[in-house]
Amino acid sequence: MPETKKCPICGRPSVEEFKPFCSKRCADVDLNRWLTGAYVIPARDDEPSDSNELIPGSDEDDNT
Ligand SMILES: [Zn+2]
Repeated sequence: MPETKKCPICGRPSVEEFKPFCSKRCADVDLNRWLTGAYVIPARDDEPSDSNELIPGSDEDDNT
């Protein structure tokens, strides 16, 4: 079984020069995802911090 990795962007066989992508274009697409923050979900960070502010004093109850 030949171990040919596939391009994570388009699924075509990857090329040695642009591993793990099949072309510079697909490598650029992946890079752009990082630059535009497609891999980051900042909204998730807001949720827990909001809940903390909604329940003031709950921490003090635990300590006392
Ligand atoms: Zn590709």
